[in-house]
Amino acid sequence: MTTDTLNPTPLNPRAWLYPTPRGLYCEPGDFYVDPAVAVARAVVTHGHGDHARPGHRSALATPETLAIMRNRFQDMPDTSQQPLPYGGSVKVGEVEVSLVPAGHILGSAQVVLEYRGQRIVVSGDYKRRPDPTCPPFEPVPCDVFITEATFALPVFHHPSDAGEIGKLLRSLATFPERTHLVGVYALGKCQRVIKLLRAAGYDGRIWLHGSFASLCKLYQDHGVDLGDIALVSDAVLETFKGAIVLCPPSAMADRWSRRFFDPIPAMASGWMSIRARARQRGAELPLIISDHADWSELTQTLKDVGAPKVWVTHGREEALVHHARSIGIEAEALHLAGREEEEGEA
Ligand SMILES: [Zn+2]
Ligand SMILES: [Zn+2]
Repeated sequence: MTTDTLNPTPLNPRAWLYPTPRGLYCEPGDFYVDPAVAVARAVVTHGHGDHARPGHRSALATPETLAIMRNRFQDMPDTSQQPLPYGGSVKVGEVEVSLVPAGHILGSAQVVLEYRGQRIVVSGDYKRRPDPTCPPFEPVPCDVFITEATFALPVFHHPSDAGEIGKLLRSLATFPERTHLVGVYALGKCQRVIKLLRAAGYDGRIWLHGSFASLCKLYQDHGVDLGDIALVSDAVLETFKGAIVLCPPSAMADRWSRRFFDPIPAMASGWMSIRARARQRGAELPLIISDHADWSELTQTLKDVGAPKVWVTHGREEALVHHARSIGIEAEALHLAGREEEEGEA
């Protein structure tokens, strides 16, 4: 007779996966998922700074995420890197670990953990709408689903990407002499905005702030065709009249942006749906383009994964916890260390 039949109490998921000051810890695997500090063994959902940290002794992630981490952390010579492609799985300690697309940025994954017949999915950051730079989110049925809550209020409804890009192209047609300066986050948003412009038929040169060069090259090396792109710093005599220029939000207000002719400041972020935030950022042309799920995508995802338990983290936990409970899901907020949104990442 096994201990399981002697003890019919079902396994409490919080007994084997729980928050600690260093991050979400999986005890029978002895690893952390997206730890807030350097640890001995980390599983990393994606390359954004609030999830991927430098200095781990070993890191397991998709090959794309590891490439992004090497790009950001000087090649990580002291980290033993364990690439696990989408769909693959590996045993870590007593836990089966697999990675499934999260649809957030290149390489982004949900971490699927299986232990003693129980399955927990740590979704990291995700969205549900198509993104030409990464494979779409795949719902995985599970016992516990850990979800982000960046835009977890019913007021958050992200409009269609094509419509937002259309606003930018219409402005360009209306003001063909002016530079359109678009603030974007370097990892993910930049490359997605370029692809959305291409999908809308814009095949002109797209100019980039120098700090975007290496991540754009990394995307191109992973098969994401960005078309004709060039660095602003290489173009000494260019006037940039009527050009689209992408830069970090922080560069829009500094000296760097003074070289442009009568620029129209735009910004692509999920936060642009909040007028005060757009004004505060000086975005005359706010573009609501987000790499996170909006309210309807979040609530749809809870239905799709069908988990009886949901742990909510990373944003506005209360509203989503309340909603989940109202549809019969056992839900609670999970307070994780080190989950402040990076500037413009949304
Ligand atoms: Zn992210
Ligand atoms: Zn995040």
